[in-house]
Amino acid sequence: MVDSHTSLTFAQAFEDTEKELKNNLPPWEKASFSDKILIIVIKAIILFPVVVVLFIVAATYGIYIAFYAIPILRDNDDRPEVYYWHSDSERNAAEIRTFIILAVLTWNVFWLLFSLYKASWTDPGEIPKIPEWEILLEDSSESGTDKITIEKRKDGSLRTCNHCQLKKPDRCHHCKQCDRCNLKMDHHCNWIANCVGNYNYKYFFLVVFYGAFSLILFVATFWETVVVGLCDNDNSEFFMLFVVTVYALGILLAIAVVGFMLFHLWLIWNGYTTIEFCEKKRGKVANFAKSPYTQGTMNNYKEALGNNVWLWLLPFGYEKSKDSGLHFTTKNIN
Ligand SMILES: [Zn+2]
Ligand SMILES: [Zn+2]
Repeated sequence: MVDSHTSLTFAQAFEDTEKELKNNLPPWEKASFSDKILIIVIKAIILFPVVVVLFIVAATYGIYIAFYAIPILRDNDDRPEVYYWHSDSERNAAEIRTFIILAVLTWNVFWLLFSLYKASWTDPGEIPKIPEWEILLEDSSESGTDKITIEKRKDGSLRTCNHCQLKKPDRCHHCKQCDRCNLKMDHHCNWIANCVGNYNYKYFFLVVFYGAFSLILFVATFWETVVVGLCDNDNSEFFMLFVVTVYALGILLAIAVVGFMLFHLWLIWNGYTTIEFCEKKRGKVANFAKSPYTQGTMNNYKEALGNNVWLWLLPFGYEKSKDSGLHFTTKNIN
């Protein structure tokens, strides 16, 4: 409870600072010197979670290489006897295995960082300012235009956004932090300093996927460093405390990130966005026992990760049509 409250407070703080940046400060060119300093400070606060992610990735990777890979791979006989090999062939096998794990981990970290870059810098998609989505005076729920969306307000009228002064396409939501509507909005993610939506969902998912995969590799192998560290009397208490703490934090992070990845695999499977899942949980949307947008498992995955299955795990192959995120076909409505 304390954790969820703390994270809520943090989320609120980030929401407030972004709002302040967007609403209360002049544009950079017109800002005074003190306003410019304030803008830089607020931007730094917004980017802080991204820096934290980069730090965690760099620290975990560095610690893994320094305290797991190098002691096994380095060519000398001065290794603690407690290591698990007893013969040359066992030692060779351990070296080959470590080399392969290190190559896979490096591959993961590279795509994690590349996906993080694309998730942060790709626009999630906004409502086009064209007549179809503009709020016109003659519009009413009875007019033909109401057929452009499936989702309606409780009174049957079109969903519109008061802030953006536009009609809202299905699955589109207004993000307070971005201060605009985002297409097929999943959620606002402070860790990438961007909203997750129609055009960057795949990249966000890959950050989670490669993070989870890397942490599983870390947890599955780094215990050897812990065991060797604890058994080798030559090590200082500080070193032992350090490796045990790193491993414990790695396990906690792995549980969180793997759980989050499984949650998103489930969401994709069922054709939900996070917001839709939360609305369903709150009972806000009556007809959401099954997502009206689900197109079957395979098509749902293609929608989320791209049409080319071979590129699902790479941050490419996510080209979308021009009206993507504006209109959705509904099949299998319960
Ligand atoms: Zn809006
Ligand atoms: Zn947002």
